[in-house]
Amino acid sequence: MFKLYEKYLEVIDKYLKQCFASQSPFIHCKIGCTDCCELGEYPFSRLEAEYLMAGFPLLPAEIQTEIKKQIKNLLQQKSEHKKDERFLHRCPFLLDKKCVLYERRGITCRTFGLAWFEEVSGKKVVKLPECSKIGLNYSEVLDNGEVDMNKFNDNGVLSPIQHSLSLNYFEHELLRGVEGIEFGEIRPLLEWFNANH
Ligand code: SF4
Repeated sequence: MFKLYEKYLEVIDKYLKQCFASQSPFIHCKIGCTDCCELGEYPFSRLEAEYLMAGFPLLPAEIQTEIKKQIKNLLQQKSEHKKDERFLHRCPFLLDKKCVLYERRGITCRTFGLAWFEEVSGKKVVKLPECSKIGLNYSEVLDNGEVDMNKFNDNGVLSPIQHSLSLNYFEHELLRGVEGIEFGEIRPLLEWFNANH
């Protein structure tokens, strides 16, 4: 059922490997660092959420129980959260500083740690991962909290990644050769679960 998507993931992973390599002077990711999974909404398309959860029954029973508990707690907290504010939280699939479904993680998870561009009022603005503020990825290009573009060159990197890292980009730019794949609606990860999950 997920054959096409797995083919697509191969393309994505190959592409992102090159991105990480091109930015290597700024990348401080290492095993055990889970900063990217500590606070966010984690946008997942329907296809990504289904692929992630297809791996869930294969997990040991005690891990499944723990994850279900985390999801339930988060749904409870979300229901008490102000409706007009984003609900940012630790990902429920993070356990003992590890993603329990790492091989099945979403596209957003695969891009964690890279700088990217966003269009703001018609201009391309470089965005850095949150961990730049705690001395990790891209902290070298920060100057008083602002991005100093010259520092990319100073570190031997010609420029940050020249586009958005959103799923839309990947859908439209990297999908060639993988016909017929449907991602479906994109929602914050937690919204793919209901209180009974
Ligand atoms: S699915 Fe895994 S990699 Fe993605 S945010 Fe959750 S714990 Fe992190």
